[in-house]
Amino acid sequence: MVIRNDCRTKIILGGVLKGINMKLTILGCSGGYPAPGGATSGYLLQIEGKNILIDCGSGVLSRLYSIINPDELDAVILTHLHADHISDVAVLKYALQMNRQNGTEIRPIPLFFPQTPESIALTLSNDPNLIPAQIGPFSELPLYGAKAQFIRTVHPIECYGIRITYMDRVFAYTSDSVYTPDLVPLLRDADLAIFDSGGLEKYRKPGMMHMTPTEVSILSKESGVKKVVLSHFVPYYDILEIREEADAREDFPYVLAMPGQVYEI
Ligand SMILES: [Zn+2]
Ligand SMILES: [Zn+2]
Repeated sequence: MVIRNDCRTKIILGGVLKGINMKLTILGCSGGYPAPGGATSGYLLQIEGKNILIDCGSGVLSRLYSIINPDELDAVILTHLHADHISDVAVLKYALQMNRQNGTEIRPIPLFFPQTPESIALTLSNDPNLIPAQIGPFSELPLYGAKAQFIRTVHPIECYGIRITYMDRVFAYTSDSVYTPDLVPLLRDADLAIFDSGGLEKYRKPGMMHMTPTEVSILSKESGVKKVVLSHFVPYYDILEIREEADAREDFPYVLAMPGQVYEI
């Protein structure tokens, strides 16, 4: 017997796409580990009824489940193989396997990810319910009528920012990166872009792997991004300090990511 969740069904019916090109739901926006009751990186992008999960960190599966069943995913894209972007893939595998055993027909889901570090990539490559596929520098991917492009970021392991174009609309996501003008082509004139904003200038240390709100304000201006969403917040930083640094920038309209936020792009 397949148990259906009435609450979930209502949410899906309420979220039917009408005249919207892309719809983005923030599932998790913590960096490193989840804030209390939160989740690390995870974004559900819906394009004309197709469900694309971008990153699948800790707590993301639970939040995804409040919107769709995991077997309704049409693709999963992992920007890099740090645990705060992939840890819930392990339980996503259980969810698909258990639902299959419970009588649900499961279509294998394409899973895109970089091939390094190899030891971690191997753990993602052998599941009958997932079809592994590689992303690489400057690779392009047709995605249910949209086009996804990947540009390498500056991060300790192989990591890609994503630019998704559908009709005349553009969504971009830096994933994890320090500031680099090399990200401008990824972000250029995006209608909405999510930025790694996991650092703060007042706590800057050598070797910091993330951008600060100050750097995001510079990069977003250089790129002409129309709507800036700051994300990947480290749980031990006070959100007010993040806001304070961002507010100190002149002419910098931004929003802070929050789990459950929905954007129409
Ligand atoms: Zn991260
Ligand atoms: Zn990372």
